Amino acid sequence: MTIDKSKVLFSREEMLELNKERLESRGVTIEDIARIAQAQQSKYTKGITFDVCLESAEKILSYPDAFHMVQLGIEIDELAEKGMLSEPIQSILTNDLGLFGIDELFGLELAGNFGIIGKTNFGDLDVNKPGIISKLNDEGKIPGHCHTFLDDIVGALAACASTRVAQIYKSREVKEEE
Ligand code: MG
Repeated sequence: MTIDKSKVLFSREEMLELNKERLESRGVTIEDIARIAQAQQSKYTKGITFDVCLESAEKILSYPDAFHMVQLGIEIDELAEKGMLSEPIQSILTNDLGLFGIDELFGLELAGNFGIIGKTNFGDLDVNKPGIISKLNDEGKIPGHCHTFLDDIVGALAACASTRVAQIYKSREVKEEE
């Protein structure tokens, strides 16, 4: 699919494609996100399939909110890596200052699209850093690398996917009881 990136409005299919492309350029695949969602939900529900996690991750990546946060967050990280920001923000971002918190704000806001549970799931992933999140966190500490926004965005995408999966399985349970 060839997408004209100079326009401002995109279809959901295009937003999914552009998000996948941008995340992959930063070493994150949709499978990485689905794996975190599967591991998180498998703690509460048996038999969560990878396919439903993958489908959920794809759905989340096609939402306008997720599109703008993925695109902007990665853009800021990349500008920081190139040293193109003004001080003190340049150093605050390249040092991933714990007190900064605007990256978590992005993550929390995105996860909030899936309600209180979305936010709680994001908090769990932010603290425990499973899978690709801890890899991103470690790589971000290497000089010349900045993953300040990316780790929170990936955590939030996984939290949204995980919460959506939980909702799907719960509604299936309700239907079976009827
Ligand atoms: Mg961060």
